[in-house]
Amino acid sequence: MTAQQAGERDATSAPGGDAAADPLLSVRNLQTHFFSREGVVKAVDGVSFDIKPGEILGIAGESGCGKSVTSQSILRILPRNGKIVGGEILFNNGDRTVDLATEEADGRVLRDIRGKEIAMIFQEPMTSFSPVHTIGDQIIETIRIHQDVSKEEARDQAVEMLRRVGMPNPVRNIEEYTFNLSGGMRQRAMVALSLSCRPKLLIADEPTTAVDVTIQAQMLELLRDIQADLGMAIIMITHDLGVIAELTDRVMIMYLGKEVEHGTVEDVFHRPQHPYTRGLLASIPKMEPGRVEIEPIEGVVPSPYAMPTGCKFHTRCPEYIAGVCEKRDPPLTAVGPGHEVSCYLYGGREELE
Ligand code: SF4
Repeated sequence: MTAQQAGERDATSAPGGDAAADPLLSVRNLQTHFFSREGVVKAVDGVSFDIKPGEILGIAGESGCGKSVTSQSILRILPRNGKIVGGEILFNNGDRTVDLATEEADGRVLRDIRGKEIAMIFQEPMTSFSPVHTIGDQIIETIRIHQDVSKEEARDQAVEMLRRVGMPNPVRNIEEYTFNLSGGMRQRAMVALSLSCRPKLLIADEPTTAVDVTIQAQMLELLRDIQADLGMAIIMITHDLGVIAELTDRVMIMYLGKEVEHGTVEDVFHRPQHPYTRGLLASIPKMEPGRVEIEPIEGVVPSPYAMPTGCKFHTRCPEYIAGVCEKRDPPLTAVGPGHEVSCYLYGGREELE
């Protein structure tokens, strides 16, 4: 997708979800660090956001910005050297609110929530499936772990879910192994597996990165249809702003573990305020007859072991204010309703004095 197309998406559409509803998930000042002999990497360093039932939120940024670690923190599937060292992940599962940040990663609460209330799809469908079992067996098993139903009922549900995600012959496909399926069919089977327990929240981590443009378009259409059909919320994690523009209602832009800007897709794409967001948008290829232009963001991403002081973007920022930006992290400042930016161009300097 081109920058122009991204910017043109749906300038008038209202965000999805029920604006008056309580958040389904409320992440507050999340800090997730990785510990190694080389030092500590603050992969997520104070991120906050809410997502309401039925809403689609995009989290975007370059690789290493902390977006995938944020989703791994929510589901508590971090690598062994990763640890949540601060903040809250409040999940409202109807009867009560649980703080996923403080629950045992392998405890009963997380085991019940994972796959049933919150499901995840990945870039590589083979990650989700075992190659030695049919896709049907794996979907049926997932259904029976979370629901007290007979094998026959679970099978009927599995066939129905495969039909919903557009598998061409669900009764036959249920007996197939992933290696028999095309790339597009594998993606659909993965979505069927993750949705088989009707989660309230689906986290999609770069699900369109490894596929060609045709499958990517089919995948986004499928997610949109399924979301409208089942009414679940989706967090879409991607480095691809075109995907965000196509699918999401609101977007949060991250840089080096920090949130730098959030707002509706319309605000962030049409009125980007943070210099990093403007740089990201400018880096999308501009397709004009006879030429494709990419404007990369200048400078290199700092080493995670030697993070800059103050605003993490100050080493690359074209609008850097000497004596200000390197002092402290800029606070989030409202620049419009629901549109916030972490940058001294818009406020926060008084706190430095
Ligand atoms: Fe640039 Fe300063 Fe804003 Fe950071 S705080 S983005 S360095 S102007």
